[in-house]
Amino acid sequence: MPDQSPTSGSTELTRAARGGEVERVGQRPGSAPAGRRSLLPAPGQGFGVTFAQMFRRVTTEEYPEVPKVTKPRYHGRHVLNRHPDGLEKCVGCELCAWACPADAIYVEGGDNTEDARFSPGERYGRVYQINYLRCIFCGLCIEACPTRSLTMSNDFELADDNRQDLIFTKEQLMAPLLPGMEAPPHAMRLGDDEKDYYLAATQRGEQA
Ligand code: SF4
Ligand code: SF4
Repeated sequence: MPDQSPTSGSTELTRAARGGEVERVGQRPGSAPAGRRSLLPAPGQGFGVTFAQMFRRVTTEEYPEVPKVTKPRYHGRHVLNRHPDGLEKCVGCELCAWACPADAIYVEGGDNTEDARFSPGERYGRVYQINYLRCIFCGLCIEACPTRSLTMSNDFELADDNRQDLIFTKEQLMAPLLPGMEAPPHAMRLGDDEKDYYLAATQRGEQA
């Protein structure tokens, strides 16, 4: 957009009258530019800056040899969490996908059966994908998740050399099995009905 300030016209006139030389702020028209105050020649001043820098605190990051430690609430790679018996917390509701402003999450829910139970509820996340080519790490998806299934880790090392590998699948996003957990599908180990299960899961979580 062209400069609409009231002084731009006079500046152009001054510049044209002085053969294109631009005046400095505070310089009186027609006066010579202010001289340097140092007694050292210009190369000496330049090396002086370098010399002074040698005694300052080094701020160079030794990454990747020394891994960067992020802030505790840094928004990194997502994790799909498990209950203490290993069942998945995701119930396939798709609220995270609806909340995502970048359309980065794809979810397909499936029905649990007594023969093949993956989560304590009626449904589970049968297909779950996050496209890290789209994700802007805003965290709206984890705010929308009603079961705290979806959280974000501090892992920021997500660079890759092809697009396909940046679409993470459910298997890549699932939290690892901790001691005492069993890989689904299996029956609910913490309670006979959902109320007992969730109460026991909450108490186990508070004790952990
Ligand atoms: S962090 Fe934001 S952009 Fe990334 S998947 Fe979640 S809601 Fe979408
Ligand atoms: S991660 Fe949470 S919000 Fe997303 S489908 Fe699973 S339960 Fe629903």
